[in-house]
Amino acid sequence: MTENEKIAELLFPNIKNNAEYYVNKYGKRSLASGAIVTRFAPSPTGYVHMGSLLTAFYDYIFAKQSNGIFYLRIEDTDLERTIVNGVEGIITDLDAFGVNADEGVNLDRKSTGKFGPYIQTERKEIYQAFAKELVKKGLAYPCFCTKEELDKIREKQEKNKEVQIGYYGKYATCRNLTYEQIKNKIDAGLKYVIRFKAQANIGDRVKFNDKVRGEIEMADLVNDVVILKSDTMLPPYNLAHAVDDTLMGTTVVIRSNEWLNSVPEHMQLFKALGFEVPEYAHVAFVQKIDEETGTKRKISKRKDPETAVSSMLMEGYPTESVWEYLYTLGNTNFEEWRLKNPDATLSDFKMTFEKISLSGALFDINKFNDVSKNIISKMPAEKVYDLALLWAIKYNAEWANILRDNKDYCIKMFRIDRENEKPRKDITKWSDIPKLYSYLIDDLYYKMSLNDFELIDGFSKDQLSQIFSEYLKNYNCKDDKTTWFNKIKQFCPSLGFASEVKEYKKNPENYLGHCGNVCSLIRVALTGRQNSLDLYSICELLGENTIKERLDYFLSLLK
Ligand code: GLU
Repeated sequence: MTENEKIAELLFPNIKNNAEYYVNKYGKRSLASGAIVTRFAPSPTGYVHMGSLLTAFYDYIFAKQSNGIFYLRIEDTDLERTIVNGVEGIITDLDAFGVNADEGVNLDRKSTGKFGPYIQTERKEIYQAFAKELVKKGLAYPCFCTKEELDKIREKQEKNKEVQIGYYGKYATCRNLTYEQIKNKIDAGLKYVIRFKAQANIGDRVKFNDKVRGEIEMADLVNDVVILKSDTMLPPYNLAHAVDDTLMGTTVVIRSNEWLNSVPEHMQLFKALGFEVPEYAHVAFVQKIDEETGTKRKISKRKDPETAVSSMLMEGYPTESVWEYLYTLGNTNFEEWRLKNPDATLSDFKMTFEKISLSGALFDINKFNDVSKNIISKMPAEKVYDLALLWAIKYNAEWANILRDNKDYCIKMFRIDRENEKPRKDITKWSDIPKLYSYLIDDLYYKMSLNDFELIDGFSKDQLSQIFSEYLKNYNCKDDKTTWFNKIKQFCPSLGFASEVKEYKKNPENYLGHCGNVCSLIRVALTGRQNSLDLYSICELLGENTIKERLDYFLSLLK
């Protein structure tokens, strides 16, 4: 046994399977030509927001576009930052918007797919096998330096005005410990990490090609970075990334820009392990305009709760709206394409790495709302009903009952001003429905007290009663809209109102108002609102009996 092999055995006595074993165990994926393999690899440290959803979406789209594979891996080696139900939250959120992985982790934390387990804490032995391999090859070593010692090294480097600060070269005091020295320290109970022996010298540069950002050149890795942590002997991101993305056969790593500077480190690790370096696509953070300062900033979990997937679900944005908006954020040429192809399906658009925004896509809630309004306006009433019910079952029990108990009525209600060339764009998200439609629901209408009605001043109870009884006398549910309106105009003069607005404007002093005002008075009585959907359609929906009951109810509230 070589000295390094002895050290490796000393450090990892229980690791029996070697690196080769795992490489052979998983083997290579058989892929159709051009197929790419992507993964979404979140850490369960918080909720999924628009930014991480966009990354998952890229993973999904690029894999699907190429007939490849998209899988989900949970990166939970930072135990301190892992939150309760973090994994479940991620899976539920992705599921809700149909970003479905081909392989990965289920809600019960079981891995599905041949390359698992897909939860990193369940892969500890695998990482250790590769760390052991690096130690054997003399490319990694245990480091016993305490925090205080590391601080001292840094101070010394600062004093010496070193261009490079960190654990490297002559400062890396544990780099060349002998087997004996290591054994003595371990026997003495000293704690240690495993460090990778960086392969570059100060001043070395490395070049690589990023699928989004093109060719990039930067300083190579000089510091001996930690690849297994002392407390858990689990890897930080670097080693886990190299091992997992190799064994799981990732071909393109799509990840946030924050990792860009670590590429030299990752490339060295891949090479030291004898792995092929995958392709990288680094995506900038999603931005938004800060309301206070008016300047662009990265979206934040804390400041922008509206960007959380869970809040989008609670608000009831339909999946189609979210997808349309993800495409808008995803490629800078999407909106132009959409204008030219208003009715095309999203899969007709070819997403490309080159058209990913370099500075970060701009999240704009107003734009998102407009996109969503547009999408919902084009849905047939039955679909609006089905989706609204699914939302209500989860988030609004009162409306779940209303929708369930009044299915045909609600579908008719949603059909008002819909399913035509210029549909009404009123619903942005399903949670808008209660405020937009409550007045059409009898149970809610009859809960209103006088204060809830947007009253029009200047008319006595008697006058209103006369208007309503004239209206009812003339109302026939079989009338078309023109006939209906003509009838109102006809009875206007007998009540002191002008049949035509023009007529009224000429001599307003001669009238109580005009036909439009009559309609408004009826509208307020029937709906409580001065603005509502089309009055004719409302009456058609309510039917003659309900119209009468509602008008009577309204009058009963008046003194
Ligand atoms: N766990 C890393 C993160 O959440 C993943 C980065 C990657 O996709 O490689 O930032």
